[in-house]
Amino acid sequence: MPEVGRGRVANYIPALARIEPDQFGMAVRTVDGELFGVGAAEAPFSIQSISKVFTLTMALGFDGEALFERVGREPSGNPFNSLVQLEHEAGIPRNPLINAGALVVDDVLLSRTYDAKGAILEFVRDLCGSLDVAYDEEVARSEREWGDRNAALAHFLKSFGNLDNPVADVLDVYVHHCALRMSCAQLTTAFQYLARGGVNQATGERLMSASLTKRANALLLTCGVYDAAGDFAYTVGLPGKSGVGGGIVAVMPNHWCVAVWSPGLNESGNSLAGTRALELFTTKTGISIF
Ligand code: GLU
Repeated sequence: MPEVGRGRVANYIPALARIEPDQFGMAVRTVDGELFGVGAAEAPFSIQSISKVFTLTMALGFDGEALFERVGREPSGNPFNSLVQLEHEAGIPRNPLINAGALVVDDVLLSRTYDAKGAILEFVRDLCGSLDVAYDEEVARSEREWGDRNAALAHFLKSFGNLDNPVADVLDVYVHHCALRMSCAQLTTAFQYLARGGVNQATGERLMSASLTKRANALLLTCGVYDAAGDFAYTVGLPGKSGVGGGIVAVMPNHWCVAVWSPGLNESGNSLAGTRALELFTTKTGISIF
């Protein structure tokens, strides 16, 4: 695919700036558990904002829809780390998948668990049915060191009374879940509950009601790929979540999950080759939610 190696790797997190852009992996896992992979499908990478789907699922489990008193559920139409919108909307982030919204979600997890980082790791390991998922401490440290914009968002939220815990604690949880390392193959297992009406594939446990799962998928469709949500729905036609590490996971409810990874990003911060691969996948198979 000519798009592989094109685009720019995320360079505002120094530990991510060193990644070779010339890489590509893709995996599809059906709701029956069958796995298909190409390229670097098993290579772990920094999942970054893809992790916000896991933390959101946990927070919905604790607070249910009351979460939406503190964070909205509309597409942002602005970059994922925009400060302007947060001020304009008086400290209520547009949705839980932009950075400000994810920080509020992390605040919920800090309030509701004894050890938020440990709980997140355990949750994701349970989704994968494997202990082979870990935080990349170097990436977490690198983002913490260079994450002034996220720190600004967190202080802003605090000033509006929308964080209960200390800013430093919220940021520590945030940079850690963003620094989870997982492969495309693992992500397609972890995301299965969104394709299976809320049921974890690895354990058979119900994580969400079918109705809440529908709503979570709707959030992915409208808010999952930053301000490119319209274009992604138009070209790919699936609910999905991207991260600046170059990963994208998309869900075809009742059928499969697909994950792609290629580190070169387009101007919206989504994997350039990954987006194209997903577009080709749904176009050639003729399967999407539309
Ligand atoms: N850790 C990244 C940040 O906060 C996540 C961004 C992303 O993947 O969209 O900037």
